[in-house]
Amino acid sequence: MADNYDVIVIGSGPGGYIAAIRAAQLGLKTAVVEREHLAGICSNWGCIPTKALLRSAEVLHLAEHAKNYGLKLEGSISPDLKAIVDRSRGIAQRMNGGVGFLMKKNKVDVIWGEAKLTKPGQIVVSKSTKKPMEPQAPLPKNTLGEGTYSAKHIIVATGARPRALPGIEPDGKLIWTYFEAMVPPEMPKSLLVMGSGAIGIEFASFYRTMGVDVTVVEVMPAVMPVEDAEISAFAKKQFEKQGMKIHLEAKVTKVEKGANSVTAHVEMKDGKVEKITADRMISAVGVQGNIENIGLEALGIKTDRGCIVIDGYGKTNVAGIYAIGDVAGPPMLAHKAEHEAVICVEKIAGLPNVHPMDKLKIPGCTYCNPQVASVGLTEARAKAEGKDIRVGRFPFVANGKAIALGEDQGMVKTIFDKKTGQLLGAHLVGAEVTELIQGFVVAMNLETTEEELMHTIFPHPTISETMKESVLDAYGRALNA
Ligand SMILES: Cc1cc2nc3c(=O)[nH]c(=O)nc-3n(C[C@H](O)[C@H](O)[C@H](O)COP(=O)(O)OP(=O)(O)OC[C@H]3O[C@@H](n4cnc5c(N)ncnc54)[C@H](O)[C@@H]3O)c2cc1C
Repeated sequence: MADNYDVIVIGSGPGGYIAAIRAAQLGLKTAVVEREHLAGICSNWGCIPTKALLRSAEVLHLAEHAKNYGLKLEGSISPDLKAIVDRSRGIAQRMNGGVGFLMKKNKVDVIWGEAKLTKPGQIVVSKSTKKPMEPQAPLPKNTLGEGTYSAKHIIVATGARPRALPGIEPDGKLIWTYFEAMVPPEMPKSLLVMGSGAIGIEFASFYRTMGVDVTVVEVMPAVMPVEDAEISAFAKKQFEKQGMKIHLEAKVTKVEKGANSVTAHVEMKDGKVEKITADRMISAVGVQGNIENIGLEALGIKTDRGCIVIDGYGKTNVAGIYAIGDVAGPPMLAHKAEHEAVICVEKIAGLPNVHPMDKLKIPGCTYCNPQVASVGLTEARAKAEGKDIRVGRFPFVANGKAIALGEDQGMVKTIFDKKTGQLLGAHLVGAEVTELIQGFVVAMNLETTEEELMHTIFPHPTISETMKESVLDAYGRALNA
């Protein structure tokens, strides 16, 4: 038997590596096992490389609209796909190198290979069945390998992978998952995106800005269906203005593959089937937890709908085994994984006053153009819960900074409890709202009321002023509209 640890974390994504660092900070002897890429999906195939691609799209968009800002750009502006993808991959590599550095700095052992739970307190690490991702920064010196390892506490942070619909499985060539969509060898002329959640709509936005003819098919009645209906409708209008075609309450039922194209049979809202042909298709119908082949069944660890069942502190039903991040269920977001990691480890270490996860306070951000960000209850959900509410709205067209930036398409919507004034939800669409939302997240965490927000001074000129105006509007006091 190899080394004995206090904590072993399986998976080095934002859940796993943050858990490992916090455990080490608390004086626990810690190791993290990884089979493919340090830093997980988030840094290598998710949050960060997509934002790099979207940044290229944003710069292209600005350059194309330079004359709106009084600038003449000589010559043609066109995307260099290879350079865009190389930039994104280089950033992913930098991120995984960063996590390697952090493991070393915090004296966390890295074990390279595929981990499986064999009994409480024990894992076996075997040779990985996955090809290590390239490019990847060099692994920390002294990285350990295959063997049996034991720990008092084992945290499963194995993440998730793309979900596939039967009969419409991605093949990596004509039907892509986010992996292939992130590294296109050439730009398709047309693209069909199945699913308009955050992943689908970010890729739709990227490819549309790159000049691709994009069609989105969404089975629900709104794009980004988890968002407030008004915000989704606002964003949809903007996407359509940019030339995106969007079919709601529509379902891809079958796909025929040609030599270099796909033809999707799409059952539309009215029941009629339309055939849509595109060069490539992205299947973005969600992700599912990596719960297979890690020994959960043998240990009797409970799962539900493809995820490990945990309590508010990451504990599973088996003593000494914990789960965090995507494998522990939705929302499947990096910051949720990180927060769960800290809660789980602090509870293991016996720290006082550890608060369980409150899922209502997890913000959600989508980095399409325009961006969308939210926290708390949507108007529909607040009403469904029987809450008596006040709703405030403020448009970007009435905000000086947004106008100066040439970004006047957006809005902020806030929802308050009528009786107590408690902020129940905030929903934003427009430029930079993924940065603005944190103001409302802090406010909600402090159980803010409308009065405290109204007493807060927002700097001028900033788009953040729309946040305050939205609060004022909920109480009939908006000043600039
Ligand atoms: C295209 C895309 C864009 C996204 N954008 C955002 C965003 O903007 N914001 C956001 O918050 N979230 C975003 N996400 C979601 C985010 O990436 C995930 O929520 C996050 O990575 C989950 O972290 P995790 O630690 O649970 O798992 P992961 O990051 O998936 O890491 C799990 C790790 O475990 C390893 N592993 C699995 N099984 C084993 C095993 N048996 N042995 C050893 N190692 C194993 C895997 O190789 C992997 O490295 C995006 C996802 C995608 C796909």
